[in-house]
Amino acid sequence: MKTPSPGRFLSRQIIEESERVLMPTYGRFPVALVRGRGCRVWDADGTEYLDFLSGVAVCALGHAHPEVTAAIRAQAERLVHVSNYFHIEPQVRLARLLVDHSFADRVFFCNSGAEANEGAIKLARKYAKERIGAGRFEIVAMAGSFHGRTLATLTATGQEKVKEGFDPLPPGFVHVPFDDAAALEAAVTEKTAAVLIEPIQGESGVKVPSDGYLAAVRGVCDRHGILLILDEIQTGIGRTGTLFAYEQCGIVPDVMTLAKGLGNGVPIGALLATEKIAQVFGPGSHGSTFGGNPLACAAAAATLSVILRDGPRGETLLDNSLRMGAHLLAGLNAIRAKHPDVVADVRGRGLMIGLELNRDAKPVVDEALSRGLIANAAAGNVVRLLPPLIVTEAEADEAIEILDAALLRASVPSPAAC
Ligand SMILES: *Cc1c(COP(=O)(O)O)cnc(C)c1O
Repeated sequence: MKTPSPGRFLSRQIIEESERVLMPTYGRFPVALVRGRGCRVWDADGTEYLDFLSGVAVCALGHAHPEVTAAIRAQAERLVHVSNYFHIEPQVRLARLLVDHSFADRVFFCNSGAEANEGAIKLARKYAKERIGAGRFEIVAMAGSFHGRTLATLTATGQEKVKEGFDPLPPGFVHVPFDDAAALEAAVTEKTAAVLIEPIQGESGVKVPSDGYLAAVRGVCDRHGILLILDEIQTGIGRTGTLFAYEQCGIVPDVMTLAKGLGNGVPIGALLATEKIAQVFGPGSHGSTFGGNPLACAAAAATLSVILRDGPRGETLLDNSLRMGAHLLAGLNAIRAKHPDVVADVRGRGLMIGLELNRDAKPVVDEALSRGLIANAAAGNVVRLLPPLIVTEAEADEAIEILDAALLRASVPSPAAC
């Protein structure tokens, strides 16, 4: 790779047209990716990148995974869509996989993370009103959280910037500080229906709570008879080294939401719950035209099967996620020791990793990109790494080397203009 080919003509054309016809909702890198294989992607001019973002924790099996591609192709040749007026074989197969490998008894499929959380909020409200107490509707969520961009989920999100300009917002959401079980306990009232929480906060910079915190949250929910909804949209599907992050906390939720890594890039979300809770949804309670369609479910079933099976040395990809995560953390801690003036913290679980800087992360991320590594800046000062679960030690070392160089560059004051 690494020498950009002359001209950058194709990329430039795509970028210029993109800026004319798309709504300006994203701060995009000036790169137009057109092809991928494993942990690598290429832009329209042929420049190669090592992808340590995976489409934001989506492409867990990397790009163009042969088994997922084959499942998509076979399903596309057979049946793409029929509607939920019918029983759908790949949907049943995927639900069975999820139920067999989680706390849940039943699954509802949708198309994105925000939709999964919308479903969870509706389910919790209906369950609370019918089974806990008529006046219960409130969801307690966490400061710094991220739950999506629909009106209800951005209201649940604990960040003011995503709400600006969109009020009036739906009522029934309160926020407490993350990693503070006493604050949560104090916020629960006779109006509370559920607690909504990410096991590790992703968008706000890979915030890992203290040991025992999620068990304490579970305890608060149990004491008050309210529901615990885990948003595992980013942490789920092997990202943190177990299929679901809750497995590492010694607890189970009542309701869980999934999306990002579930379909390896084919849009799909899922809402999972125990039997007792799922039963408050009846025909007409909730629905989605595309949710659980044959194509998305075939892709997700293939993805999940591979994650639970494949890994180097006869291990699963979950083992690889844990081992490569530890390897990356060790490498990043070595970088931290070399750049103590720039790196404030290194943290994460499995392959969900944050490098907190004591300055803006964007210039470091841009410098890494120019050296062929894709990462992103979360919460302003955190370099977030979410490599595919298939990442190899050689690829991890390459990423560490590029980050080291990018940090060195960023820590050198820019030469004064003459
Ligand atoms: C990405 C994300 C969402 C929103 O998912 P979309 O598919 O973008 O709607 C919700 N919660 C968490 C924790 C996320 O990381």
